[in-house]
Amino acid sequence: MAPRDCIVVINAGSSSIKFSLYDGAALDLAMRGKIENLYAGVTRFVAQDAAGAVIDEHRWPDGPIDHATGMRFLIDFAQSHLDGRRVVAVGHRIVHGGVDYSGPQLLTEAVLARLDQLVPLAPLHLPHNLAPVRSMLAMAPQVPQVGCFDTAFHTSQPAAAQAFALPPRITDLGIRRYGFHGLSYEYISSRLPQSDPQLAGARVVAAHLGNGASMCAMLAGRSVASTMGFTAVDGLPMGTRCGALDPGVVLYLIDELGMDVAAVQKLLYQESGLLGVSGLSSDMRTLEQSGDPRAKAAIALMVYRIGRELGSLAAALGGLDALVFSGGIGENSKALRAAVCRDAAWLGVRLDTAANDSRADGIRRISTPDSSVAVWIVPANEELMIARHTLDILEH
Ligand code: ADP
Repeated sequence: MAPRDCIVVINAGSSSIKFSLYDGAALDLAMRGKIENLYAGVTRFVAQDAAGAVIDEHRWPDGPIDHATGMRFLIDFAQSHLDGRRVVAVGHRIVHGGVDYSGPQLLTEAVLARLDQLVPLAPLHLPHNLAPVRSMLAMAPQVPQVGCFDTAFHTSQPAAAQAFALPPRITDLGIRRYGFHGLSYEYISSRLPQSDPQLAGARVVAAHLGNGASMCAMLAGRSVASTMGFTAVDGLPMGTRCGALDPGVVLYLIDELGMDVAAVQKLLYQESGLLGVSGLSSDMRTLEQSGDPRAKAAIALMVYRIGRELGSLAAALGGLDALVFSGGIGENSKALRAAVCRDAAWLGVRLDTAANDSRADGIRRISTPDSSVAVWIVPANEELMIARHTLDILEH
């Protein structure tokens, strides 16, 4: 990497596209931006420099735009703000790598064709991850593109953690637990020992709590169990997803209530979780500010389920040395962290209330010195993890 070389990272979700630009071999963040509200509401774009100052903003008042229009806008924006830099590679977040991809991968037409076959495993996310790769291949085929998979970090899990108790004729089709948010957990596992070297070989449970939410048990930095399974709807209740559900409920919805597959999918992915229980909002900030008992019930259910999963993941690890909060809710909601830590007192968790309440930014410990479980906040940084993987692939 020459000093003016840069890596672009693209994280295309179902309703947003985020991009980041990293300079040189040190991968210094130069700028980041996102387009939100694709398809619904007022689509808006904002770009910030490394210090968080807004460089540019844009809105589409005539109606929401789609991914393709959003990508074209982002490419034009990036090209006019490169300032003499040369884009040497583009790294993409790809939600699913199936059983084939246990690490980052140079994206060729052949790899894309294999990933197309995984779309039924992540129908709401994977097509949006792959579309920008194809746009870039068409527009700039000479620029290498690297796919970084949210499932890859979990391929280290023992067989029992990946298995469903189903017959081989089903499991042989790839119907097993994969786990997601792997890039976030991989970043946490790389970042935590830099702040406390004693945690390098530790038993850690990390909770990535954003609009999507999951938890992961890590032993010496490797995933041993996770709450998300075959799809990203399993595990914790999320903004609009229900999390773990007795499969008998799905059969009942279809058989007794006459719902078709599309209606069940909409219910489980878009109408449940915090939104479904509260009937008000999927947004934790709105629920925390509301006096409505349904908002309180939704938050209490999320706290309860995090506590149950924490016990289960601690069992998978044979004990617990550290608990990590990450993601928009994990990083910002002191009330949720306090409630989770209160319920985890039986594991030896002791929260330092002043540290928990502090408005400090960045990675920090929020447990008391005598807490037998160290509690940390680690701001999510999947983009940096993608940039590192992309650089590795370029250099090897
Ligand atoms: P995504 O999974 O889409 O990347 P984020 O990680 O940004 O989402 O998390 C979004 C969630 O974080 C929302 O529920 C939002 O309400 C919550 N959140 C953001 N800031 C705060 C805050 N200050 N207090 C409580 N919750 C917050």
